Amino acid sequence: MTLDIAALQTDLQAKGIDVLRLIFPDVLGITRSKDLLVSQLHRAKSPLFCQGVWVTTTGGDVLDGNDIMSSGLPDLLTQIDPNTLTMMPWEPGVALVVGDAFNPDHSVSEIAPRSVLQKVIAEYAALGLTPTVGPELEFYIANYDDENGWSRSLSRTGRVYTTGESVDPGGEFLNLMRMLDGMDIGVFAGNHEFSPSQYEINLWHSEALDAADRTFLFKTAVRDIVARTGKHALFVGKPWDDEGGSGFHLHFSVVDKDGNNIMSDGGSGLSEMANHMIGGILEHAGSLAALSNPTVNAYKRLGPDTLAPYRANWGHDNRSAMLRVPPERGAGTRLEVRLGDPAANPYLLIASTLAAGLDGIKRKLTAPSAVEGWAYEDESAPILPMTLNAALDALDADTVMRETMGSTVIDVFSVLKRDEVMRYEDTVADKTTRDVSQWEIDEYFADY
Ligand code: GLU
Ligand code: MG
Ligand code: MG
Repeated sequence: MTLDIAALQTDLQAKGIDVLRLIFPDVLGITRSKDLLVSQLHRAKSPLFCQGVWVTTTGGDVLDGNDIMSSGLPDLLTQIDPNTLTMMPWEPGVALVVGDAFNPDHSVSEIAPRSVLQKVIAEYAALGLTPTVGPELEFYIANYDDENGWSRSLSRTGRVYTTGESVDPGGEFLNLMRMLDGMDIGVFAGNHEFSPSQYEINLWHSEALDAADRTFLFKTAVRDIVARTGKHALFVGKPWDDEGGSGFHLHFSVVDKDGNNIMSDGGSGLSEMANHMIGGILEHAGSLAALSNPTVNAYKRLGPDTLAPYRANWGHDNRSAMLRVPPERGAGTRLEVRLGDPAANPYLLIASTLAAGLDGIKRKLTAPSAVEGWAYEDESAPILPMTLNAALDALDADTVMRETMGSTVIDVFSVLKRDEVMRYEDTVADKTTRDVSQWEIDEYFADY
């Protein structure tokens, strides 16, 4: 605990910041926050700010069944990480900062997603390795009004992988890109995606914790900036029956102590290490599904012929596989894990992907051969879990994930998510339908 609050206060005042918005992700990945008046920061008695309690369900009820809840909603303490301080160009004078969460006895919270990721990164560090990730997220921009409910902001465009007035009337997306640029969080490109009102934004790669923080800041900011226009950013995997889903693809590589990318074989191929990592990621595909597709809705995105994955397989520059190896080699050698849904908590998605890769390294797992052609038809590869419950079964049973990420966070996640499935199944008559239900719209659209 080395945070010097007096120095922080002086520094913020010098930067013209009068409100510090402390944000942290709950287990679901939802941004929880508190606005701190910079003029009053000196009143803090310790570097740990009292942040309130963990709010871990969107369903309205606080859940029983885990220590956090059964102990009577104790305080959550947060310590800001000044490295994450980020300006909000759309709200001058306010800065965002990400916090780590602690228990009342000042121990690190085992269910704080940021701490879980730090724990996995430390396992890599123990082997002299540093994982690097580059996230890319797709999302829709939607309208909501009480009378007509939710609709896409643009009804038709037919234009794919493009930018400009036809897919961005009034320049709202352009404005969004400029605001994100002003935050300096590594956003470097964006475009209109396959479906009307669907966009993709790419973030530059960096060390895993920094990239997770930037993704969290990104999602928080996009929702905020779009809300200013009276619209909504939907980080929901499959919001509409008649249009494609949105993904959260993760580019992933690992460097050694000398800064060499261990996935490269030095020539045009992949190293044995890369093969082990692919093996690890495919072996843990079921539990990765749970943590990177954490909603009932997410499983309606996954399926054949969607450009979202259907089978746990991999291929060279193959977008129909769960894991694509982009053609770049040398320092840019990497995997693209295409499984993720933008509703995922970026810390848990990244932590679990890294944990799976690490297991591949430690156990020297061998990847199956790369799929050729349309990967959806690759019958040698297992089909991914097609429901949240099936994915949770895999996660619950995954002892490697439990050891690497910590059992408490897996248990809390699973309790919360099983409750979500139960609430869905209580409401929706046909439990096997792939159609998006009113329950999903009510549960996810406003919050994710
Ligand atoms: N929208 C697709 C997904 O759900 C990805 C399309 C693309 O490759 O850009 O993952
Ligand atoms: Mg895309
Ligand atoms: Mg991609």
